[in-house]
Amino acid sequence: MSQSKSSILIIYTGGTIGMKNDEHTGALIPFDFSGIYEEFPSLKRLNVDIEVITLSPIIDSSNVAPENWVRLAEIIRDNYSRYDGFVVLHGTDTMSYTASALSFMLEDLAKPVVFTGSQIPIGVLRTDGRENLITSIEIAGSRSEGHPTVPEVSLYFQNRLFRANRTTKRSAEALNAFVSDNYPPLASVGVNIAYHKSIINHPDSYDNTELHIATHLAEGVEIVKIFPGMSRQILEAVFSIPHLKAVVLETFGAGNAPTCEWFIRIITRAVERGVIVLNITQCGGGSVEMDLYDTGLRLKQAGVVCGYDMTTEAAVSKLMYVLGLNRSKEETLELLRQPLRGEFTV
Ligand code: ASP
Repeated sequence: MSQSKSSILIIYTGGTIGMKNDEHTGALIPFDFSGIYEEFPSLKRLNVDIEVITLSPIIDSSNVAPENWVRLAEIIRDNYSRYDGFVVLHGTDTMSYTASALSFMLEDLAKPVVFTGSQIPIGVLRTDGRENLITSIEIAGSRSEGHPTVPEVSLYFQNRLFRANRTTKRSAEALNAFVSDNYPPLASVGVNIAYHKSIINHPDSYDNTELHIATHLAEGVEIVKIFPGMSRQILEAVFSIPHLKAVVLETFGAGNAPTCEWFIRIITRAVERGVIVLNITQCGGGSVEMDLYDTGLRLKQAGVVCGYDMTTEAAVSKLMYVLGLNRSKEETLELLRQPLRGEFTV
């Protein structure tokens, strides 16, 4: 028995994937995704119906702000019951931030939301965008055992499908621009798409026809990357920002930082004032373990929260999401200490 057609909504937000050369001038101009079937007739062979929303204005993803994440979440919520899956076309530069944020904001998601983009414009002969787009559509429409195969927020790029909140853009040059250092791919793509089903997240229930989303993201969340020789002034300046709520502290190795008196004092005082300090490592792979060295233990004693193997993108967007829920201090810390969408491994 052939499966019924899936319906997919493509949301084009901007970025390189949506560019093609003007036939006359050769200049890069935006590609009109509403003409997607004319441009890629092979799409008709996929068992999917496609509709496209193009955001206005489309933006280079370097200009993305939390307001854009809320708008995107609202579009997915408002169209949730009409489609089986969603493909978000996004600039690669900040795609991991947006995709991580959406993984938290789409609270009871039970359908695929696949982010993709490209390094070379879709209208250029050697583009990586065509394959990224077509495979993302196929993944968003895929079903197994009566349910979507990948009912979480994911990111597809160059033959690999990742959990979105585990990804980072690692290369400004290579076509396999994204990595997921601490979590294996949800699917590997060759001649066939091999889904690694045992590591894909599934929702508690598939019964909800409505999607609940978070529309409030907290301000006052900052990132501090430490380095040998960092000045006391810069740390003092960051921790004296008015209305500061949380800092993602990018530390060395397994979560280590200088133990000098001024460093520990600034962090300790901030925590005492109610600022949340979340410790993640600058290393691509591996996890924070604050008990391993004295240099990590001092942070733990100061009240710093362990971020385990979270990416910067996941850490900062999770803090905005969790603090935006306006829960009590204890509940907030509880939400930070547990993975909410598979964003870290304890
Ligand atoms: N600057 C572009 C963007 O992120 C790069 C890309 O799409 O790859 O919007």
